[in-house]
Amino acid sequence: MEALKKKVKEDGVVIGEKILKVDGFLNHQIDAVLMYDIGETFYEQFKDQGITKILTVEASGIAPAIMAAYRFEVPCLFAKKAKPSTLADGFYQTDIHSFTKNKTNRVIISEEFLGENDRVLIIDDFLANGDAALGLNRLVEQAGAETVGIGIVVEKSFQQGRKRLEEAGLKVSSLCQVASLQGNQVTLVGEGEENA
Ligand code: 5GP
Repeated sequence: MEALKKKVKEDGVVIGEKILKVDGFLNHQIDAVLMYDIGETFYEQFKDQGITKILTVEASGIAPAIMAAYRFEVPCLFAKKAKPSTLADGFYQTDIHSFTKNKTNRVIISEEFLGENDRVLIIDDFLANGDAALGLNRLVEQAGAETVGIGIVVEKSFQQGRKRLEEAGLKVSSLCQVASLQGNQVTLVGEGEENA
């Protein structure tokens, strides 16, 4: 995903040493063509796995997730952060700590849309410490369904997310890996090695 890596390098704004702001193409304004390519890439990686549902959490995961769902021709389901009055009963729920907002949200999905025959690809915009993906996996477990993999747009490899997900037995595929945000600089995994 060279186009994604280029965008992350050129448009990403480093906040502190741990947060990358990508409001120009992913988290506020959305680059639809790039999202389409992201969906296509996840499709190529998981197309033989019998995926029946794409699962994400609102709001930032929805753009890449819906493009993947379009490509797989399966529904895109997103966990909601507030229980609407229209959702009377029959839902799965779990608490997820937000790394960027430093608060815990209860997220829910209706039982109607996830069941034991589902093979789920979880998609999210970022992987930091893995709380969001682990929380979504708990919802899958509550439904008796199976998480086939976790597709991440931007992985911050200097945080614990991949380790925690892999320890939980989950397969992680990320399209862009950030090695460091130190010195106000986005350094990608593997960057510069070709010149070493
Ligand atoms: P985790 O749950 O893996 O610790 O963090 C992932 C979640 O937090 C994602 O859903 C994403 O919305 C948010 N997040 C974590 N790190 C970043 C970051 O550096 N930039 C942005 N924009 N969101 C992040």
